[in-house]
Amino acid sequence: MKKGLLFIISGPAGSGKGTVVNELLHAHPELKLSISATTRSPRPGESDGVHYYFITKEEFEDRISSGKMLEYTTYGSNYYGTPLKEVEEAMAQGYDVILEIEVDGAMQIKKKINGAVAIMLTPPNAEVLENRLRGRGTETEDVISWRLERAKEEIKLMPEYDYAVINEDGGANKCAEDIYGIIRAEHKKTIYTRSIIEKFI
Ligand code: 5GP
Repeated sequence: MKKGLLFIISGPAGSGKGTVVNELLHAHPELKLSISATTRSPRPGESDGVHYYFITKEEFEDRISSGKMLEYTTYGSNYYGTPLKEVEEAMAQGYDVILEIEVDGAMQIKKKINGAVAIMLTPPNAEVLENRLRGRGTETEDVISWRLERAKEEIKLMPEYDYAVINEDGGANKCAEDIYGIIRAEHKKTIYTRSIIEKFI
């Protein structure tokens, strides 16, 4: 069976990444979203095993030392990481796997996994970014300014990514289709299509 590919989508807070990824998965249910583990508490509406695996710091550190994380990082004062086994199994079953993770984890994966494709989603400018962060209304002022600064730092790392997709206000649908276009194009790369040649000789 043809192995699936790995796609990293990073978008700083305010990039609209959550909505875009939801649109992408809704329109293309054959894609598999990897569910991350985190030590942060669930936000209202989030549930364990759906949005994240919400685990304790001790359990997270156990998983790191037993090699169960494909990558992990600390963001704010919490750990976030990608469970290795689930990703490997889904790819082996032929699924394209989507990782919705921040830049540090994205760079770890680019180094570790040949062919992993990194896509950065960004807001169009700093003003839109700030409006979106304030509009969410779920975070304290301290968290908002920290996220704003962090978002700017993350966007500066765009050149390390393979693709960038700009999310204008109301543009989630278009971004999801842009990302799907990237996924389709990656599958057409000649490293994956070489077996065709044999059919001609
Ligand atoms: P949030 O707390 O808003 O859900 O996520 C905070 C940040 O952590 C986001 O940028 C999100 O993409 C990132 N993140 C979520 N899961 C993972 C993960 O498994 N690994 C890494 N490196 N970052 C993650």
